[in-house]
Amino acid sequence: MMVQRKNFFVLLTVLLLSVVSFMPSVAIAVEVKKDCPVQSVPFTDVQIKDNFWWPRMETNRKVTIPYAFGKCEETGRIDNFAKAGGLMKGEFEGIYFNDSDVYKVIEGAGYSLKNRADPELEKYVDGVIEKIASAQWEDGYLYTFYSVPRRQPEKRWTNMRDNHELYCAGHFFEAAVAYYQATGKRKILDVAIKLADYIDSVFGPGKRREVSGHEEIEIGLVKLYRLTGNEKYLNLAKFFIDERGNARGHKLYGSYCQDHKPVIEQSEAVGHAVRAGYLYSGMADVASLTGDRDYVRALDRIWQDVVSKKLYLTGGVGARGGGESFGNDYELPNKTAYCETCAAIANAMWNHRMFLLHGDAKYLDVLERIIYNGFLSSISLSGDKFFYPNPLASDGNYQRSPWFGCACCPTNIVRFIPSLPGYVYAHREDTLYVNLFAAGSATIKMNNKTVQIKQQTRYPWDGAVKMTVNPEHSAEFAIYVRIPGWAKNQPVPSDLYRYLNKSDKKVALKVNGKSIALDMEKGFARVSRTWKKGDVIELNLPMPIRRVVSNEKVEANAGRVALVRGPIVYCAEGVDNDGQVFNIVLSDDVPLEAKYREDMLGGVTVIRGKARSLYPSEDGKLVETKEQEFVAIPYYAWSHRGVGEMAVWLPRRVMLNFDVQ
Ligand SMILES: [Zn+2]
Repeated sequence: MMVQRKNFFVLLTVLLLSVVSFMPSVAIAVEVKKDCPVQSVPFTDVQIKDNFWWPRMETNRKVTIPYAFGKCEETGRIDNFAKAGGLMKGEFEGIYFNDSDVYKVIEGAGYSLKNRADPELEKYVDGVIEKIASAQWEDGYLYTFYSVPRRQPEKRWTNMRDNHELYCAGHFFEAAVAYYQATGKRKILDVAIKLADYIDSVFGPGKRREVSGHEEIEIGLVKLYRLTGNEKYLNLAKFFIDERGNARGHKLYGSYCQDHKPVIEQSEAVGHAVRAGYLYSGMADVASLTGDRDYVRALDRIWQDVVSKKLYLTGGVGARGGGESFGNDYELPNKTAYCETCAAIANAMWNHRMFLLHGDAKYLDVLERIIYNGFLSSISLSGDKFFYPNPLASDGNYQRSPWFGCACCPTNIVRFIPSLPGYVYAHREDTLYVNLFAAGSATIKMNNKTVQIKQQTRYPWDGAVKMTVNPEHSAEFAIYVRIPGWAKNQPVPSDLYRYLNKSDKKVALKVNGKSIALDMEKGFARVSRTWKKGDVIELNLPMPIRRVVSNEKVEANAGRVALVRGPIVYCAEGVDNDGQVFNIVLSDDVPLEAKYREDMLGGVTVIRGKARSLYPSEDGKLVETKEQEFVAIPYYAWSHRGVGEMAVWLPRRVMLNFDVQ
């Protein structure tokens, strides 16, 4: 049934496209998208106006985007296009996949422009696009590394494992779709379509059967398909996914590239964590559109593997710096945790797509954990300093950097932040999903009705959320309000972490002032009624300070506890704790209190209490303990007040081995 409807829409799309091929195809793409079980509400229909994300989005617009473009200029990334297009002379500068950084900043600029007009930024980006267009070869090929100082056709596709031509193309497609949707200007989209058509002429059944060592093109092709309705892009995305791990056309690159066995036979998250996250996201995209059950079954297995054995409390993934890769089961060291920023973003993208496939809130629990913790740590409050790895402990030699030679992380942040409003709501036919909590408003188009919804809340510092529902006309439909796992005594949807004590504070839900029982389905409280203008849902998620312990198989956290409150993971920093944290013991019975500090780190709730600290006796022969004031701050906000020790996991009692792993 679903497949038939899909075919109908695709057919409709093809017919429409043939009639209106010179018109912008945005409206057409909406028809294609109807195949997804759950559809997200586009970020353009959601306005976040809170004290948490809004300032970060504004900083991204005002500081990070211009800053990142400036860095792309300074490092020759943009000149590479001008050189490739014959607009200037010179050698190629930087790393071979530097094109992708420029594309990611354009994508971020596109989202930002869609959120808020900025003629100066738009004019600048138009200029960059001119340079990119000049660098495209007559046949459609686009990759500056093989184009400077002269075009080298003999080098094309000669190192599929390492040279990232298709990876760059994927990012370009994402940028083109975002910028076209923001501005309606076709130039970048035309370049993208020409490139995609060229790639389609090279790869596919009966042509070259190879894959890129770094996934990403799959996501980009699906976006291009959703925009244009041209099915060959979807087929090509599926082709690249199906060739992975399949030795019929290329020598396999191994598990580092998830190229060790066919994807539908994979059950474990392995190899480079960013590559993996992009692959799983692309698979989820294709599965949404084709209904491919084998993909879904593989994704379900791999997801279970990650949340049960490979996920940091911060939502970070990729334990190992070597190979920027997933570790073994339960291998989750803190000080050497790699947790690349791009891997956090890829994991967020993947979990969002898993939610769209299954309509289950457990994926949003992971998504929320990532965005408030393991992702957000990656950028300074000022918007111009970045983490590449996001470790959970530091001995005081690590801080954010202004840029990196390999700048994948900062440019990924640039595009991810302005897209965040797109994660807040979704709908499935007549059901409206409230996925995340953030003050602001949204206009949601469902079937034949439009519903406005407004959230008032101090989330993530306070779990009280007031939602005012304004349907265009009174109508019967269901609103599904996510009840986060953390509010139901389950920090993550697995046994990897658990709260030390159960909280007896209950989640409460009211409609128009009247308490209602929680009618739960897949992690959402379902409220089905005839909604009329001005109806109010009040959700109260108690936010006591909670102590979390790990599954005992996580060696690095043995005997240790972490503090969380609501979706926020805490850490202790030396600057608040007498200069050190590796000597602190936080007993289970110490009372702790939460206090909002408007003056601190952009406004944060801190946790205070007493701890014991260890220090050597005067003769140096004994270890003594003393009581001291203890302060923990949100993990994402660490490393803003000088360089010092930091730890998320603290010993619960004096231990023989105090080394932080
Ligand atoms: Zn990165």
